[in-house]
Amino acid sequence: MKTKTYANHLSKFLLCLIAALSLCAVFALAGCSSGGDSSADTSATTEAAESTDAAATDDGSYTLVEEGKLTVVASIDFPPFENLVDGQPEGFEVDLMTAIAEQMGLEVNYLPTMKFDALVPAIAAGGTADVSAAGITITPDREAEVDFTDPIMDSNQCIVVKKGSDIAGSADLSGKIIGGQSGTTGIDWAKENAPDAEIKTFDEYTAVLAALQSGQVEAVVMDKPVADYYILNAYQDCEVVEAIPTGEQYGIAVSKDNPNLTAAINEALQELKDNGTYEEIQMKWFGTTD
Ligand code: GLN
Repeated sequence: MKTKTYANHLSKFLLCLIAALSLCAVFALAGCSSGGDSSADTSATTEAAESTDAAATDDGSYTLVEEGKLTVVASIDFPPFENLVDGQPEGFEVDLMTAIAEQMGLEVNYLPTMKFDALVPAIAAGGTADVSAAGITITPDREAEVDFTDPIMDSNQCIVVKKGSDIAGSADLSGKIIGGQSGTTGIDWAKENAPDAEIKTFDEYTAVLAALQSGQVEAVVMDKPVADYYILNAYQDCEVVEAIPTGEQYGIAVSKDNPNLTAAINEALQELKDNGTYEEIQMKWFGTTD
């Protein structure tokens, strides 16, 4: 700006020189900040100048949708892993994600609940959340879209019916109406193992189980720990008639563009296992006090 104010007093030569120098300065400044200003992404472990391509760096840096925070998205209807209580998410995975974030020097930030079948696409697309922890079974199909951390929990499926039902197990599902949550491994199992059953899907487990209570569906296939929890706490007129040992494992979904975040979470998870925190959280939600 000064160059303009005093332009009249300067020779043409000086004016040109100053203009040229200013231009250089502008480019130099732009160069300094270009590593981090192209998006809201910030690097938690290194200065932004080094982090233009997190996937290609081997310095351990990762990107976060919000600086200083580990932003988590989940379908918060999956107790005891995640559930909304008085508007606040709570559960095993909520405690685990909070501890992982803390271990990484970050604050955990849960986004509002999202439909289960939208979670993996949201993480794959990027920009919404850093991770999804939602009882997500690690499957080859999902691994094609996102990366998973090391397994955080084992799980199995089960068949739930209304008490008094004539369905006593998987052998009786033929021709029945089976309900479940959209996009889940329970629905995949039902399609594969009860091919002539009618399948009805819902976005939330409360809707799935309400449909079972009302007779809209005759059986539900869902993750056993969650079925046990729901039946014990709210749907006492329903029961598990068969456990299905699918041998699933839950992982935390992370974008394939952010491999160092997966590595950092795995490191934090290992630390929490080594220092007893993981076991403490496990005892709190699955302990022998029931
Ligand atoms: N574990 C099941 C799956 O990954 C169900 C998860 C869920 O409904 N939150 O498909």
